[in-house]
Amino acid sequence: MLSGTARAGAAIKADAYGVGVDRALPALRDAGCASFFVAHWSEVPAALAHVPANALAVLHGARNAEECAYARATGVVPVVNTVAQARLWSETGGGPCHLMVDTGMNRLGIDPEDLADAAVAALTVDTVMSHLACADEDSLNNARQAERFTAVVAQVPHRRASLANSAGIALGRAFQHDITRPGIALYGGVPHPALAGHIRTVVGIAAALLQVRNVAAGEGVGYGASFIAPRPMRIGVLSLGYADGYLRCWSDKGVFVHAGRQLPVRGRVSMDMTAIDLTAAPDLREGDWVSLPYDLPEAARVSGLTQYELLTVLGQRLRA
Ligand SMILES: *Cc1c(COP(=O)(O)O)cnc(C)c1O
Repeated sequence: MLSGTARAGAAIKADAYGVGVDRALPALRDAGCASFFVAHWSEVPAALAHVPANALAVLHGARNAEECAYARATGVVPVVNTVAQARLWSETGGGPCHLMVDTGMNRLGIDPEDLADAAVAALTVDTVMSHLACADEDSLNNARQAERFTAVVAQVPHRRASLANSAGIALGRAFQHDITRPGIALYGGVPHPALAGHIRTVVGIAAALLQVRNVAAGEGVGYGASFIAPRPMRIGVLSLGYADGYLRCWSDKGVFVHAGRQLPVRGRVSMDMTAIDLTAAPDLREGDWVSLPYDLPEAARVSGLTQYELLTVLGQRLRA
């Protein structure tokens, strides 16, 4: 609805933002996503298990003859980002590709003045695209990029045009074009206030209690004894740590829950374990599970991490 007549693509790079390609892709495909974007060629095999090759694109492009050959062998579409990539793609045989044009972010993509280069002009462009630098803010850059992109779209023969990431979808018709490329919003992130009512949390994290112990007043908990028990306490030791993406910024700050009861983190998060205060849940025993609320906007506010970081740090061990 928000995207008008545009079809949804999906950014699935970084293992679907840490959610896991094997879990996320079948759901996105079955929900009707038309195109899928990874960053690296190494991400292709896992994605091809779920989506057709011609619907899969590699954002960083084909940077050498091996990557061009791999693209042709699989049918996966490279995004051409530089004049050199355009030459390489043509010299190794050409064929459909996408074209990334930089309209003001000054990150990856061909400068509009290079569109006239013979190698670029010779490309068979499926989707011409650009990426917004400030879509999650009220910024004059947005209108400026939309305007420049409209000029690019008029200049480059193409099948489809694509500009909006998740936040860009909220910016209106001038940003929607033929296909959108949401990432974070597909995984529960709210990148723009206008999208808040449309997005549900999709990641749930639970951790098991490895041990429950009584700690005497004045005793320290965990590395560095950064937490000192002010009174006798029951402490639960969870099987979850920074190696799972529960970073040390949550030390003495995070809060787990069980049946509506708050269980604050005590002391430093370690690699595989985190200690929580069981004062509010005296019935919990070894082997019980507690959950970690992972509302991304709220978790970002408390932790200082971005919603993107909160997802992409999540470790493989959480998938069990
Ligand atoms: C990651 C990425 C997206 C998705 O961005 P979100 O902010 O997660 O919606 C879209 N396009 C490109 C080129 C990207 O690199």
